[in-house]
Amino acid sequence: MLRLLMSTPRNNLLQKVWDAHTVRELPGGQTQLFIGLHLIHEVTSPQAFAMLREMGVPVRFPSRTFATVDHIIPTDSQKRPLADALAEEMMVALEHNCADAGITLFTPEGGQQGIVHVIGPEQGLTQPGMTIACGDSHTSTHGAFGAVAFGIGTSQVRDVLATQCLTLDRPRVRRIEVTGKLAAGVYAKDVILAIIRSLGVKGGVGYAYEYGGPVIDAMTMEERLTVCNMSIEGGARCGYINPDDTTVAYLRGRPCVPEGEAWERAETWWRSMASPPDADYDDRVALDGKALAPSVTWGITPGQSVAIDEPLPRVDAVSAEARPALEEAYAYMGLKPGRPLLGTPIDVAFIGSCTNGRISDLREAARVAAQGRVPAGVKALVVPGSQAVARQAEAEGLPGIFQAAGFQWREAGCSMCLAMNPDKLVGRELCASSSNRNFKGRQGSPTGRTLLMSPAMVAAAAIRGRVSDVRELL
Ligand code: SF4
Repeated sequence: MLRLLMSTPRNNLLQKVWDAHTVRELPGGQTQLFIGLHLIHEVTSPQAFAMLREMGVPVRFPSRTFATVDHIIPTDSQKRPLADALAEEMMVALEHNCADAGITLFTPEGGQQGIVHVIGPEQGLTQPGMTIACGDSHTSTHGAFGAVAFGIGTSQVRDVLATQCLTLDRPRVRRIEVTGKLAAGVYAKDVILAIIRSLGVKGGVGYAYEYGGPVIDAMTMEERLTVCNMSIEGGARCGYINPDDTTVAYLRGRPCVPEGEAWERAETWWRSMASPPDADYDDRVALDGKALAPSVTWGITPGQSVAIDEPLPRVDAVSAEARPALEEAYAYMGLKPGRPLLGTPIDVAFIGSCTNGRISDLREAARVAAQGRVPAGVKALVVPGSQAVARQAEAEGLPGIFQAAGFQWREAGCSMCLAMNPDKLVGRELCASSSNRNFKGRQGSPTGRTLLMSPAMVAAAAIRGRVSDVRELL
């Protein structure tokens, strides 16, 4: 990756959106920022509502708050009461809190439930130029629309519920230009994994990432959502892409977007928020998109990845400072430095999550799955990101393709991404996963191991029973 220049930022999207939502600058240099959209779910909101009740404070803007259930919801049967008593209790608490405060809740019964970062865009709630907060790390996803969107903790969820504001430091902005054109079999997931590998998992600390360039411009909204989703894995506070014709076309006709003259006004404002071609940034880097190959993580952070045709890094080839992290990752993963990852047998394949559980992900994975059959001993799950994604997939016959290839077709939810539900790895199982985190124990077993990759690569690994190069199947 090539570092290009440094300058003082003037008029990029982040600055414009930040200024438009600034209530006031605080004496310590922080900003009191108005939050246009607050998304909540069952895991990080109950304590926040309890704190409000204790203080006797109502929800300030119920009309700007939307809720869904995603983390704990089972994906085999969502029939109420849920089989797991704790999950049912959390579901009931969310229902009561939302009903009390007059907040719209997307439930399985209503047909619009799904992962919070899938339903926001799907419903047209996520719009350019907005500030968006949610008690979930991957809120950066919504930046794909040119929104400034970030994850917050439980006490901040309370603050937003009570005041619709947050106190924040304004991040610096790094422009990441992805040049050229992606080859067949190389996806948005490979782009973001390559960016994180190059800049590091802490490289984005203090920054917002603005993604641009020909590769990003050519992406669909769903691909852009994948890229922005993992900004947080590179340490960035948020990540965004400037709104353009693709953004506007995606939003047109969605349930929560304005209509008529209000649409015209909104579209003009959305487009005015985009960084101009001569915008200034705190930092600029470039990545050659045509040089990218399918990527797979081999370690315990999303920055520890290789191209599928590349050997695993040798410990003696890195600096003494970098060695302990590699040694820890190899010890946990049980992989050998210098050897290829290609051909490594897997136990589980997971296609889903807010990174890669959208319809285009499932279409691409089904195209690969149709070419083989999951071998005995490998468990393969496909979990749509929302009920709307599931309905679209069903209309296109995708569940039948997956099931014929030996995959299980499940109901919408976070599933095995975080395993706060019954979908968990067992023991040291190795999982090819389209999710976003490969931390130790992330998928439900304290010793479980995760290889992050694109959904098409997961499908290839599933039908071959080992890590494979999807380009051989396309
Ligand atoms: S899919 Fe995973 S990362 Fe996304 S919201 Fe659910 S648990 Fe969080």
